[in-house]
Amino acid sequence: MFLIKINRENDVTLLNAAVSDFADGLGYCEYKIPLSIKGVKPKPSQSLILGTKAHHAEEKYEQEHVELEPVSVEAIEDEQEDIEFARENVYSTLSMPFEFPSENVLLSLSGRIDKIMRVEGTLVVQDDKFVARPQTYDKKTQPYPSQLLQVLAYLNSVYSAKRSKDPEDWFEMPHTAKKWQIRICDRKTREPYKIFSGYQDSFELHYFHTALEKFTTIALDITEPEHHNSKPKCDACNLKSFCEFRI
Ligand code: SF4
Repeated sequence: MFLIKINRENDVTLLNAAVSDFADGLGYCEYKIPLSIKGVKPKPSQSLILGTKAHHAEEKYEQEHVELEPVSVEAIEDEQEDIEFARENVYSTLSMPFEFPSENVLLSLSGRIDKIMRVEGTLVVQDDKFVARPQTYDKKTQPYPSQLLQVLAYLNSVYSAKRSKDPEDWFEMPHTAKKWQIRICDRKTREPYKIFSGYQDSFELHYFHTALEKFTTIALDITEPEHHNSKPKCDACNLKSFCEFRI
């Protein structure tokens, strides 16, 4: 797992993190941010290991069963053209500058996208969650905040075919709208059980920008993390054995 890194170069503070650090830090618990900066790494849980296995199986299944046309640069640039990238083949980089009274900051979030495509001009990002008991989502009408923040980060990024910090490798996908899809899949069958989806609107974009700014100020120690005051969250937290704020 990628940790949060802070480098000061000339007059700019460079803050690099993984999309998952941002989504987990703002969507689950803000106290995870300073822990990640300190280098605390959770041991991969059984559910994470099994989820990763399911992702690999899904990627392999697509390679063996779905014939995708190679995507050309011309096709990417043509907003009218429908395109679909192979699973787990596209990396994302989001760059966001902030000017605070104390310093100028460039936040950079890197990730890897499960599935990205453009359908009738709409940019679609899909993220699959492979869970042991998808029925736990029966009553939920919306995804968890961390799940939403993750797909919003992907939708507002530039893309590349390999993990790269070189802007030469990045491309954009022209589009008329942005849509996210979070598929809750049964880990055993890998079949989607429930799908949350939505078009990014101005409210979501505002929520996302506020979260990016908060993540940045907590990481740079400009603001203090806020506690969620939820014992069940602490009990389920993968960093609980390292955290002095556990309740
Ligand atoms: S143990 Fe609780 S306070 Fe600490 S990082 Fe986890 S959820 Fe946050």
